[in-house]
Amino acid sequence: MPIVSNNEHATYDVIVIGGGVTGAGVARDCALRGLNVLLLERHDYNHGASGRNHGLMHSGGRYAVTDPDSARECIQENEVLRRIACHCIEPTDGLFVTLPDDDLDYQATFVEACRQVGISAEVIDPQQALQLEPTLNPDLRGAVRVPDASIDPFALTLANVLDARLHGAETLIEHKVTDLIVAGGRVLGVRALDHRTGLTHDYHASVTINAAGIWGAQIVRHAGIDIQMFPAKGTMLVYGQRMGQMVLNRCRRPSNADILVPDGAVSLMGTTSDRIDIAQVDDMRVTAAEVDLLMREGEQMVPRLAQTRLLRAFAGVRPLIASDDDPSGRSISRGIVCMDHASRDGMEGLITITGGKLITYRKMAELATDLACRKLGVDAACTTTTQPLPGSQERNVITGGFKPSGKSNSSKRHGDRRRAIPATDALDRMNICECENVSIGEVRYAIEQLQAHDLANLMRRTRLGMGACQGKSCACRTANLLAQLTGDAQQAQCDLARLLDERWRGAKPVAWGNALRDAQLTAAIYQGLCGLDKAIGRKEVQP
Ligand SMILES: Cc1cc2nc3c(=O)[nH]c(=O)nc-3n(C[C@H](O)[C@H](O)[C@H](O)COP(=O)(O)OP(=O)(O)OC[C@H]3O[C@@H](n4cnc5c(N)ncnc54)[C@H](O)[C@@H]3O)c2cc1C
Repeated sequence: MPIVSNNEHATYDVIVIGGGVTGAGVARDCALRGLNVLLLERHDYNHGASGRNHGLMHSGGRYAVTDPDSARECIQENEVLRRIACHCIEPTDGLFVTLPDDDLDYQATFVEACRQVGISAEVIDPQQALQLEPTLNPDLRGAVRVPDASIDPFALTLANVLDARLHGAETLIEHKVTDLIVAGGRVLGVRALDHRTGLTHDYHASVTINAAGIWGAQIVRHAGIDIQMFPAKGTMLVYGQRMGQMVLNRCRRPSNADILVPDGAVSLMGTTSDRIDIAQVDDMRVTAAEVDLLMREGEQMVPRLAQTRLLRAFAGVRPLIASDDDPSGRSISRGIVCMDHASRDGMEGLITITGGKLITYRKMAELATDLACRKLGVDAACTTTTQPLPGSQERNVITGGFKPSGKSNSSKRHGDRRRAIPATDALDRMNICECENVSIGEVRYAIEQLQAHDLANLMRRTRLGMGACQGKSCACRTANLLAQLTGDAQQAQCDLARLLDERWRGAKPVAWGNALRDAQLTAAIYQGLCGLDKAIGRKEVQP
């Protein structure tokens, strides 16, 4: 039986459930409008789809032919994010290329559809495309340039959380909503379990906003409401090199494996789309067939991928609303769904915001907050189209992007907030992760100001361990530092083992050749040399 404490003062205007980009955006918008808001996330910010996607700031081109409303939302928000979140964005532009097996007639349909929804789409000569991107298939038949970009989803969500907190919001990680408090046809708040203490608390609010992504259907079920979600799994591959400077797309109807995104020093190839059972959402496995498909298609677009080291594979689940006649979910609209459960289900005080995309999160937040304000009788305008996020507040902030090895990448991750990173002490300036250039000071900043307390959430805040070595060199050092900073060596050791398990889970589907040798080296270091598995009484950390 959980122990329930009565929080007499835990009453808010709005409770937001879910710390993905949508929940973070809603919390920020509510706080900017002067509402008293609490955000509850069951694990860590970006633990769901917001930390498991392509990081593509769509121009909308991908949806222009098949889903023009969503394409229009994408280009509008693309323009807004360049203003308010420039430190999270690398303005790469993108190419939609026609390969020998693709229908060149589709190019004209694509360009016209882009024009209709306001996306600039410039047809360029294949030779010019090859000059821009020399790794492209030399036999390409056509190319169109669009304003796609690469965006750091981790930095984007965190900047929203940070601004929400700066404007008075309370945001709690490791707090799982286990029930809705319902009385008289109204949701009065939530019951949440604090994973770190094992205690359960009740929190009351006039409005509860469900931004729990694919888990949103479970949330509303506590109020007897049914939403049919469509769990569309997408798998991606991480290659250990940056293959080019632009986002590369296949110029065809949206399909499997047709996008390659430069992400700092690495490249992301994706994605697939398959309906999975909702029970699998918390235990997703990448299959060999998915890896084969992504590699095969990717090598058609960029042949050099065949000789490039694969670091790992990962999968996420798109929070889409179900459609009975689409088994893969490809043709379900990526448009925004905002549900007022008062008008839909007769349940006051509850809103669900879902669907959409990473890059339409701000608009989603605006819609949900507008509705909450109407319910609360608050007349406060949305300011998020113009108010820059923390990190993007200086006019000349260095925009996100790849910096050559040896230079600090903290400006990409934190923008103008990098000044808050301790750097006067020589020790703080030392790099602890060479691949992503993370300093000891940045780790301290993440712990002291960004609610990081273990290795996994340090990675989500600093990209530590996300580069070419995948944590092999830096994870042990960082666990040591964490032990010193938190005073809990045993916890740091457990974190290290968990992180290595997680890394092995991603490396296993691509573990052959050099990737397998690399995994064996990691296992030799951490099991053979450090005895990590024995130290915490585990049989096995890696193969
Ligand atoms: C493979 C793939 C590739 C994609 N690529 C792109 C792309 O390139 N560009 C783009 O714009 N979009 C992309 N998307 C879509 C985008 O990632 C999602 O639309 C977006 O991240 C959804 O954010 P969210 O906050 O709504 O959901 P989520 O990020 O899933 O957040 C929901 C949060 O709720 C929390 N939660 C769940 N249950 C509870 C509970 N009981 N209590 C408290 N918290 C709870 C979860 O832990 C989670 O953190 C992609 C999606 C996938 C799957």
